[in-house]
Amino acid sequence: MAQATKTEKDATKAWNDCLRTIRDLLGKENEEAFRTWFQPIRPAALHDDVLTLDVPSAFFCEWLEKNYINIIRSTIRHHIGENARLQYRVNMDNSVVSDPITTTYPSGGPQNTTNPPVDIPLKISGGGDTPIPSALIIPGIKKIRIQSQLKESYTLENFIEGDCNRLARSAGLAVAQNPGKTAFNPLFIYGPVGLGKTHLANAIGIKVKEFYPDKNVLYVTSEQFMQQYAEAGREGTTNDFVNFYDMIDVLIIDDIQLWSNKAPKTQEAFFNIFNYLHQHNNQIIITSDKVAGELQGLEPRLLNRMKWGLSADISAPDVDTRKRILEHKLLTNGIVMPADVIEYVAYSIDSNVRELEGAIISLMAEASFNKKDINLDLARCMIYKYVKGSWREVTIEYIMKVTCDYFGMSIEQVQSASRKRDIVQTRQVIMYLSKKYTKQSLSAIGAQCGNKDHATVLHAYNMVKNAVEKDREFRYKVEELERKFKH
Ligand code: ADP
Ligand code: MG
Repeated sequence: MAQATKTEKDATKAWNDCLRTIRDLLGKENEEAFRTWFQPIRPAALHDDVLTLDVPSAFFCEWLEKNYINIIRSTIRHHIGENARLQYRVNMDNSVVSDPITTTYPSGGPQNTTNPPVDIPLKISGGGDTPIPSALIIPGIKKIRIQSQLKESYTLENFIEGDCNRLARSAGLAVAQNPGKTAFNPLFIYGPVGLGKTHLANAIGIKVKEFYPDKNVLYVTSEQFMQQYAEAGREGTTNDFVNFYDMIDVLIIDDIQLWSNKAPKTQEAFFNIFNYLHQHNNQIIITSDKVAGELQGLEPRLLNRMKWGLSADISAPDVDTRKRILEHKLLTNGIVMPADVIEYVAYSIDSNVRELEGAIISLMAEASFNKKDINLDLARCMIYKYVKGSWREVTIEYIMKVTCDYFGMSIEQVQSASRKRDIVQTRQVIMYLSKKYTKQSLSAIGAQCGNKDHATVLHAYNMVKNAVEKDREFRYKVEELERKFKH
């Protein structure tokens, strides 16, 4: 093992002191929280009052910032000094995977901590190590490297494929392999919020860098672009601004819908940059929450350009994709959760992926703060709280999955036309439970159970109801099943 450097030693000492204080402040009753959120942190360096901590995931860092900012702030000030600052690095398996995220604690109150303060200004480094903190072309420097502003954890490998995003994902890969040289220029990715547009756009940028390390890739949000343009206007550096953008090989503009009904000058500047990049076979990737045709208040010429390449939508993931996304997130964050909980969450949260992530975070937090095991009961309570304070109605899909698992049947069997006794019985139980626990119509229930009509569902309901009343063993089975989703 390499010898620890002085700054590592200092960091270890300072952090150990902080840990003792934090543990005291949290108190005995929060020992579990301490173990969950503080023990996995590793001190990395202490330089000029900046303590760098390695954390296992970005989520971890967000969680710390959101929930423990006061404790951390006062503790590091106490042990390191009034000017103490903290820097997190996401570090998995001892390989650093992110640029540090810096947090400063000035004398004021807590900062807005929902987004960790990672405001990375555009920097150009002239091939060497010293960054030049301005988005200007430096005369005489031929090949300029641009800090791409890509978020490292948003990789294509971490972007789970499903029917909902297959086109966008594979077009993205094609673009990354051959930026500017496919028909997908621009690549226009659109879809509702929280479904992975930003992630995918980043992932394409990262892949380009893997295939072509020398290419200049830049990720900017449409807002950032707008602000930079306005700033350049104020400082009289608009030409530099345009020249800077013209140098980019792969330009990713996120959330272009934010230009709707505003910033005509910005739009015009972008229009010109777009034309220049396109003519020079450079790649443009745009994301939007709407299809180009529905973007109101955007320059018609610009809208027209958007349609030149490929428009690929991202829609809500189906339950199987949701499950795979959850499993992947848990795995990469080193979190273990029972399979039935994963399944329950995947079935219950069907709106978007961000909420899916939110659900896991709340679940973990709930478990660690209240010293509970992560189990189905906890998941149910959490989703109750999480999903707008109302019990979420169970879906036929979920009832079907749970019932099939219980009776050892496959969903295909239940949905087939088979008249085999055990298959018929499982199908009838699903119909019974669906009528009892969902607000779906009889025909909707029948349609999901292999295109049966409403009379069949009603018949099934009565059959099961009778059987439950008469047959104790059967009643026990049905009740056991009901417990899996009844509140
Ligand atoms: P959008 O930009 O469409 O609002 P984001 O890209 O910010 O959505 O995605 C929201 C969250 O969901 C991110 O944390 C992202 O990593 C995650 N996410 C979305 N789609 C997927 C996917 N297919 N696989 C893995 N994670 C995903
Ligand atoms: Mg986004």
